[in-house]
Amino acid sequence: MKFEIITIFPEFFRGPLDHGIVRRAREAGLAEVQVHDLRAFAHDRHRTVDDRPFGGGEGMVLKPEPIFECVERLGVAPQAERSAARESVIVLSAQGSRFEQKAAAELAALERVILICGRYEGVDERVGEHLADRELSIGDYVLSGGELGAAVILDAAVRLIPGALGNEASSQQESFTLRDRLAAGDGPSSTCASGGLLDYPHYTRPAEFRGMAVPEVLVSGNHEEIRRWRRRTALEKTVRNRPDLLKQAGLSLEDRELLAEIAARRV
Ligand code: SAM
Repeated sequence: MKFEIITIFPEFFRGPLDHGIVRRAREAGLAEVQVHDLRAFAHDRHRTVDDRPFGGGEGMVLKPEPIFECVERLGVAPQAERSAARESVIVLSAQGSRFEQKAAAELAALERVILICGRYEGVDERVGEHLADRELSIGDYVLSGGELGAAVILDAAVRLIPGALGNEASSQQESFTLRDRLAAGDGPSSTCASGGLLDYPHYTRPAEFRGMAVPEVLVSGNHEEIRRWRRRTALEKTVRNRPDLLKQAGLSLEDRELLAEIAARRV
């Protein structure tokens, strides 16, 4: 899978791509990342990539010509043929649809993803309308540029490429992973697939630290009790921190019973 990032700050990506899973995936040939300097596609003496907004107002806007030229030079399929070619051109934007785990899984199944990083007041709208096939936002806040968002999207997608994580089961039991990503027949197991909830709490040695003991059930060796504890705590955390996720989660009869217990304890 190939990621291509278009930015006015190519140096920005030296750090984020050189560690952990992303680095290993690159070294193993599972993911290739190329960073393109947008200024290389500007033709004036000052390599200008931005201009004042039509209609007046604050700040500058990234011009369309260098961005169109860069994407065309990369030989990306035309907008109408992109999904068949398993390619996607994405503009990072606070006005985009929210990037979530589902979109990360969709991107991980593609062959090529181009990420266009905005700066200043943003990118000329014609890029979003006529060149890109989607605008993505990494959350409801405004960043100074799309580079952090591109790194976030790349990281979340790369770890879902088959083979990128040492153990495929780890991505299935993580927060947000919906059941349609689980292999047929998988249900809550001893590691308890999240089914769209937040992950359950994790503990490691020492069993007691500064008077804080790990929950006894986890050292009991009773797999069924551990599974049930993990499911209950995943539900509790989701109720506490992200109740919105419960609406789309795949809930079993047991989950509903656990939720009733949790609700009874909260009153
Ligand atoms: N005027 C824009 C607005 O209010 O929506 C904000 C522009 S922002 C200062 C500059 C660039 O940062 C954007 O073009 C986009 O590429 C990036 N950016 C800002 N917030 C983002 C977010 N939440 N998700 C993804 N990219 C973001």
